[in-house]
Amino acid sequence: MAKIGINIATGSIQQQEMIVGIDLGTTNSLVAVIHPDSKKPVVLKEFDGNALVPSVIHFGEAAGISVGDDAKKYLIKEPQNTIFSVKRLMGKSYNDVRNTSSFFTYKVIDDNTDSLVKVQAGDKFYSPVELSSLILKELKTRAEHILKTPVNKAVITVPAYFNDSQRQATRDAGKLAGLDVLRIVNEPTAASLAYGIGLNKDEIKTIAVYDLGGGTFDISVLRIAGGIFEVLSTNGDTYLGGDDFDSAIVKHWIFQIGISESELSENKNLSQELRLLAEEAKIYLSSKDSFAGNVIDKKVHLSRIEFEQLIKQFVDKTIVCCKNALSDAGLTVGSIDEIVMVGGSTRVPMVKKMVGDFFQRKINDSLDPDEVVALGAAIQADILAGNNKDLLLLDITPLSLGIETMGGLMDVLMARNSKIPSKASRQYTTQKDGQGSMRIAVYQGERDLVKDNRKLAEFSLSGIPGMPAGLPKVEISFLINADGILQVKAKELRSGVEQTIEVKPQYGLTDDEVEKMLFASITHAKEDIQIRALVEAQTEATILLDTTSQFLKKNRSFLTADELSKTENAMNELTNLLPLANKDSIQTAIEKLNEISRPYAERLMDEAVNKAMKGKVI
Ligand code: ADP
Ligand code: MG
Repeated sequence: MAKIGINIATGSIQQQEMIVGIDLGTTNSLVAVIHPDSKKPVVLKEFDGNALVPSVIHFGEAAGISVGDDAKKYLIKEPQNTIFSVKRLMGKSYNDVRNTSSFFTYKVIDDNTDSLVKVQAGDKFYSPVELSSLILKELKTRAEHILKTPVNKAVITVPAYFNDSQRQATRDAGKLAGLDVLRIVNEPTAASLAYGIGLNKDEIKTIAVYDLGGGTFDISVLRIAGGIFEVLSTNGDTYLGGDDFDSAIVKHWIFQIGISESELSENKNLSQELRLLAEEAKIYLSSKDSFAGNVIDKKVHLSRIEFEQLIKQFVDKTIVCCKNALSDAGLTVGSIDEIVMVGGSTRVPMVKKMVGDFFQRKINDSLDPDEVVALGAAIQADILAGNNKDLLLLDITPLSLGIETMGGLMDVLMARNSKIPSKASRQYTTQKDGQGSMRIAVYQGERDLVKDNRKLAEFSLSGIPGMPAGLPKVEISFLINADGILQVKAKELRSGVEQTIEVKPQYGLTDDEVEKMLFASITHAKEDIQIRALVEAQTEATILLDTTSQFLKKNRSFLTADELSKTENAMNELTNLLPLANKDSIQTAIEKLNEISRPYAERLMDEAVNKAMKGKVI
């Protein structure tokens, strides 16, 4: 018997379980759903009308764990136990965040530099996945409370530049919070969906999504055609946002009231008080012309014009990023059809003006910039629920993916900017007779030697039946799913043995690092080609020496004394040249050895063929 669900809040019959859309932000998080009656996306609000849940977690001694506005109050009082900006730590190792560790007022553990970071609160340690799951759990509980129905399925958004490990970490956090994460969606894609861009299958558009939040700035250029969203380029600054506006105001005020920066850094309470007042002033100035307030019985004030002077340098920076994003996508401002504004900081009138001026067109800002991403996630959830079958999402891989081959060379299976979901495979073989296993190391990056790239995973395919070198056919296939998570499969085709792993990389990459790696691949291109040629020659020599000595072992008696000594001399010569790293001399020695062995190898081959032919009737 089928069960019919009735939504007590709306009184409507629920045919399907609700799938919620979640914007898991650095500063604020929120949930949206498609309203069962109006079929329009709406954000879920508490009775106080507030939809935003600050992405802050407080670990209290007696009070226990609190999330959101309750936790935000402790940012001042207990900075060491109040965790904010955990999104920055997702999928990261301590090495990845080392340079920015002063940003965090809580303790980020640095014992093992290459493993994923942990955060200490009280005497306990938490992974970013666990911390994010606490925020997601809070959102789930809220949603259930407001919707009066269990919520078990969600679509969660991430920045377009998030790599495999960051997406996987987000997915894991959802799982830990008791949510079945149906899809990880790019934030700019969600934002454009919220504006209805891309919902019509016949539409072909190129759009720019400008997202200025609390601590991060992202600009993404998307191409939408036939209901498919393709990320053409992303750019931005992971440490630029509304927080910088607040700091600029604080700096301005401490000058105004006559205290020094060192005095301020000693007095934590005062510094936090100023910070909160600065944010209040900033928000006020988005609709009014001047602000006045009090801090420690001193008056502070700020006009809109002063504020604009303070933040101009930051907004200028975002415009530079926009330029770069356009040139990466091979476009000019003229080819952008729509500009979508996302993030609380785009409420600042000057930001709107400068972005509009740069793109020379009217911007899309009719929706609440805090809500657009969540609204779009709800639309995506609805598509996944089967209510809009025509849409598909398409993204691209930011860096090439490949495996290590002999000599430490990078063999690319999936080139950078490949569209995902996608699949690629290639065949490899063994180097040694009877080799029973093969080590497969997966890398991400643009350099020719794997040591210059990032290792994502390593596994071995064992149980290959004994065969002569070169005979096994090991097919390695890469499959990237719609979430951007990589699955690597190795299969020996003759015997059918196979092994599959899902890549959960040890540590992630920031978009800064991606950029650095791309840049390095260009500046090192020439030397990389030389090294590759040398390594290939060395590899060829090693294999030749190996097979020749095998051959000699088996067939010594068929060779003349002259052939034998010439061969051994040539082998010695090649062996000695190997470590000298001169590609040309190695190649000459390879040719020489081949010249010497060719006559007797052919002779033996003929004999073997003759023998084999004798027994057969033609
Ligand atoms: P994130 O995506 O990083 O979680 P949000 O999009 O929620 O961030 O943006 C938060 C930022 O927006 C904060 O710095 C906040 O001060 C700022 N903000 C919110 N409302 C306004 C406003 N009316 N004017 C200016 N800035 C605002
Ligand atoms: Mg955001």
